[in-house]
Amino acid sequence: MKTLISAKDIEDLLRQGGDLRSLPADAILTPSARDRVREIEGRATHNGTASVAPSSAVKAITSTSPKPEIETFFRSPEIQQLKEQLCEIGRRLWQRAYVDGNGGNVAIRVGADIALCTPTLVSKGFMKPEDMCLVDLEGNQLAGTKRRTSEILMHLQIMKRQPKAVATVHCHPPHATAFAVAGVEPPTCMIPEIEVFIGKVPIAPYRTPGTPEMGALVADLVDKHNTVLMANHGVVAWSHLNVEDAYFKMEIIEAYCRTVVVAAQLGTPLKTFSQTHLQDLLKIKQTLGIPDPRIGLKECELCDNNEWRPGVTCAATQNSNGSGTGVVSPDGEAEALVQAITDQIMAGER
Ligand SMILES: [Zn+2]
Repeated sequence: MKTLISAKDIEDLLRQGGDLRSLPADAILTPSARDRVREIEGRATHNGTASVAPSSAVKAITSTSPKPEIETFFRSPEIQQLKEQLCEIGRRLWQRAYVDGNGGNVAIRVGADIALCTPTLVSKGFMKPEDMCLVDLEGNQLAGTKRRTSEILMHLQIMKRQPKAVATVHCHPPHATAFAVAGVEPPTCMIPEIEVFIGKVPIAPYRTPGTPEMGALVADLVDKHNTVLMANHGVVAWSHLNVEDAYFKMEIIEAYCRTVVVAAQLGTPLKTFSQTHLQDLLKIKQTLGIPDPRIGLKECELCDNNEWRPGVTCAATQNSNGSGTGVVSPDGEAEALVQAITDQIMAGER
């Protein structure tokens, strides 16, 4: 009998370090599984890599493997390819001004309890593959001549708390970081991309960068959120796919925050789309296999549940067909949000 493969089966396979090539040749794929395969193959072609997840060979090494085996693994072609990906992501972060000085760091899980990460005291725009470091999940360096990033504990705590996290990116993009400094959670129901690929973005309280306390506060949020603002610091995102996907979340959150800040200056109340439209986006998200705790909530819950509506009032749709566009009430929380953003901009100009 032919095997039926669902999108969840594909996720499970990748999580276990499997490869799409190991699927039975005559397997029947559900529509969402087919979409998922197309997405993975598209990314693989784009990245020039055969698989988005570490292969089974990569998974075989652990932090307790003999030192020579760890060194061989660290210099393997497969790891070399991931080191080059880290350099490429660093270059994009720097070119987009998401990092400053030696700021920002990136990590990729390459085994059950090991991760490849960027070094400390090197600009992310000019890293070389030989700069990369291998660490265990406690942050002990296993290989690499440069010292690992001082913020690695946060990445590792995310990976420990969120088993789906195969890659993490942390940086300081100015507009998203401005929300983190103002303590304003980005409003929802304004632009579709962020709802589909990210969702609600919470703010982790401030702690000194690099401390276990900082990592623990971020890790507390990653079971429900793939992107987290870090108060008075920056942003961190994780991906269940690969490091480029984690980086894409940075582009999406930064473009979103920048757009909201610009829109808030136009002198008119910001408009939102309705809960019905949000439901449509959550369905697309589910098809793509991207988790969101809002999936399954009723529209009234999306609207009424304060947990999902911080800092802005998404007006309930007035039309009975639910197709109308909600308008943020000029009263109350929405006005406070616009005022907070405006105050931030004005303060920044002084
Ligand atoms: Zn930082």
